[in-house]
Amino acid sequence: DLLVVGSANADLVIGVERRPGAGETVLGSDLAVHPGGKGANQAVAAARLGARTALLARVGDDAHGRLLLQSQREAGVDTVGVLVGGAPTGVALITVDPSGDNSIVVSPGANGRLTPEDVSAAGCLFQSSRVVSAQLEIPLETVVEAVRSLAPESRFVLNPSPPRPLPQEVLAACDPLIVNEHEAKVILGGSAVGDTPEDWARILLAKGPKSVVVTLGAEGALVASAEGVARVPAVTVDAVDTTGAGDSFTAALACRLGAGASLAEAAAYAARVGAATVTKEGAQASFPTAAEVAAP
Ligand code: ADP
Repeated sequence: DLLVVGSANADLVIGVERRPGAGETVLGSDLAVHPGGKGANQAVAAARLGARTALLARVGDDAHGRLLLQSQREAGVDTVGVLVGGAPTGVALITVDPSGDNSIVVSPGANGRLTPEDVSAAGCLFQSSRVVSAQLEIPLETVVEAVRSLAPESRFVLNPSPPRPLPQEVLAACDPLIVNEHEAKVILGGSAVGDTPEDWARILLAKGPKSVVVTLGAEGALVASAEGVARVPAVTVDAVDTTGAGDSFTAALACRLGAGASLAEAAAYAARVGAATVTKEGAQASFPTAAEVAAP
């Protein structure tokens, strides 16, 4: 079973002709409200692939919180670990112009109130999970507590997004640490990272994780562990919207690892899930089912 520890946000999206500058008001399209946040996205992606999945997160006692709970339940996610109250549900206020460029303001809200105590209180979810997956849209000390709560045989998967330097205790638990180029650079503290993704992966691995995955967008990904560094073949598709690809990639990888696949096998499957995700608009709306990934 997979446990996702992370964020749940309502994405509030307005299309505009031009994004407003300081002191300026512009008129936009009708408001679209979508369930999002990296934790919620990963949980939905995993459940849609058929994995037994639970989400440990916090939402507000408000309409956005109810929307998020509903989208999790519709996907088949166990929401016993979704805590309610303490602050408004996290929101991302997104304006997007005709060229697709956006401006985003995030209010973490209840995500910022998911505490280490909330993690401790969810001990039974950790006991029943072979894989625990986290991101960084919740307080870092909460992620640290998640690492400390792992059952002896369980595996910890981290996508450090938004990236920040990580304590050694967290780095050492990652199996794998999953980063894109930007995240790799921040985790490496802006130090020289070498020229190639293989270099980044090796330097990251030397920092303590048991394994590392570097995602490379349309170029696919690569995996690095004590056994060496290997490319994961890219999957060629017509990309429509890359939103959510990193989330579904991570979720798919965690699912396959939980099912006993090797890191290379799991990453190859995740690359197919990520590729399927970019062929459709939106985040959660674009995540494929297992049958869709299996189809040629
Ligand atoms: P992030 O969104 O975190 O930056 P990426 O853009 O690297 O992550 O996407 C995650 C994974 O999704 C990639 O490693 C790749 O397997 C897949 N993917 C992303 N964009 C494409 C694309 N245009 N074509 C095919 N696969 C893609």
